[in-house]
Amino acid sequence: MTIAIIAHDGKKAEMVAFIKDHTDIFQKKHIHLIATGTTGSHLEKAGLEVEKMESGPMGGDAQIASRLVEGRIDMVIFFRDPLGKHPHEVDVNMLMRLCDVYNIPLATNHAAAMRFIRTL
Ligand code: PGA
Repeated sequence: MTIAIIAHDGKKAEMVAFIKDHTDIFQKKHIHLIATGTTGSHLEKAGLEVEKMESGPMGGDAQIASRLVEGRIDMVIFFRDPLGKHPHEVDVNMLMRLCDVYNIPLATNHAAAMRFIRTL
C-alpha cells in the first residue's frame, strides 16, 4: 500500500502534527510512504521512512502523478492551503485530476485525512 503525502507550506505544521498523532499507523510494515521533497524531509524528522521526490514547485507533484498513472499509488493525502498562491498550481490540479481519472482516494484536508487513515 503506497500513500503519497504532500503539504503546501502553509499546512506543513498541521501535516506534521497529523503524522505525529498517527505514527503507529504510518510505520506499519505494509505501508510505503512517498512525498514531495520538503514534506518528505519533515516526515523523516518525525522519524518515518519515506521516498522523497523533488520539491513540489520543482516537479514533485508531477512525479507523484506519474507514479499514480503507473498504478503505483493507492491513496493521496494532500494538505492543501486554499488561501495561498502556488507557482505549481497547474501540477497540483493535474495530480488531483488524475486521482479522479484513476479513481484514487484523495484527501485534501485534515478532516478527510483522519477519516482515510481509519481504513488502514
Ligand atoms: P514540498 O511540495 O513538499 O516540496 O514543499 C509540496 C507542494 O506541492 O507544495
